[in-house]
Amino acid sequence: MRSRAFRLLALGLALLAGLPSAARAWSGVQHIQINKAAGRNVPEEMAGYAAFSRPMVLPGIYPDLWKESDLEEGPRHYFEPDRLPEGTDLRAISSNQAAAFAQIGLPPADVGIAPWTIADLLAQMTAAMRTNNWLWAARCGAAMGHYVADIHMPLHCTRNFNGQETWQSGVHERIESDMTKAFFRADQMAPAPAVYVENPFREAMGWIDHSAGLAPGFLRADIIAKRSANGRIDSESYYRKLWELTGETVVRQIDDAVTHLSSLWYTAWVDAGKPAVPEPFDELPTFSVHSGVGIDPPNEGGPVGTRQSRKNQRYDAIIWSVMGAIALVVIVSSLHRGAQERKAKKK
Ligand SMILES: [Zn+2]
Repeated sequence: MRSRAFRLLALGLALLAGLPSAARAWSGVQHIQINKAAGRNVPEEMAGYAAFSRPMVLPGIYPDLWKESDLEEGPRHYFEPDRLPEGTDLRAISSNQAAAFAQIGLPPADVGIAPWTIADLLAQMTAAMRTNNWLWAARCGAAMGHYVADIHMPLHCTRNFNGQETWQSGVHERIESDMTKAFFRADQMAPAPAVYVENPFREAMGWIDHSAGLAPGFLRADIIAKRSANGRIDSESYYRKLWELTGETVVRQIDDAVTHLSSLWYTAWVDAGKPAVPEPFDELPTFSVHSGVGIDPPNEGGPVGTRQSRKNQRYDAIIWSVMGAIALVVIVSSLHRGAQERKAKKK
């Protein structure tokens, strides 16, 4: 068993290593704020859940880190309706993923599978609450928070997600990460009360539909802000203009993410028969709820993954190469010393 210090070091490394791939998401801060606010937003009758959900806050960022070691993770973070034939009614798409994609006729990875991922995690969370498996309920609920937050970011709901089709490359990170981190404050949030969700999959498609409708406005705002900053997209005036044009919508989308996530958590609890919520766990494991791979080895709790984490293999490689370098220095310097001693003897 690895020591806690090693696991923390590994997590730190993973957070650093995960930075580039985390770019396609709200920044980690927003995911944390959304999971945290949602825990406080459930109805009062769900007593104990606000406390129970505290260790579910940080895991709101884990799914972005799983992308590094799980090649199937990426498509869980988006759904791009503008890849579908024009006039497709999102709310008529099957909640059965295989049936839906047989109908759509495109590979799931091209369009994204966020709504099915959310529905699957909700079902697992509900079943886990019903069978008193609260650790699994917490893990599925925390991960679900990430995907719910992602589909409220308009650029997760369009094929032109990074402005790559309109010469606006990098717009994704500029809006959701750089700008939002700089201007969004948690005290701007005002979510609506959580409610029971009758048909979660269809609702999620509705949230995506709304998000997708906002995407063109976000892309337009980037062009206007760039023009007003004389083309300097790295300037303060660019970001100020961008926030002026999109800030209100960003705040409303984050509010909606909190409302909808807390509504799904509440729905799981009602469907599970309103069981008593236990004391919170100290912390949740970090590895993927889908595949068992990720930033911590799957050696405790939850379904055990069979694939060895590539990330851990990489840490081993880093540690071995550092040790190798030290050994090399020791060998070279002792050879050098030996050569000098031989030289000194000759004199
Ligand atoms: Zn994401």
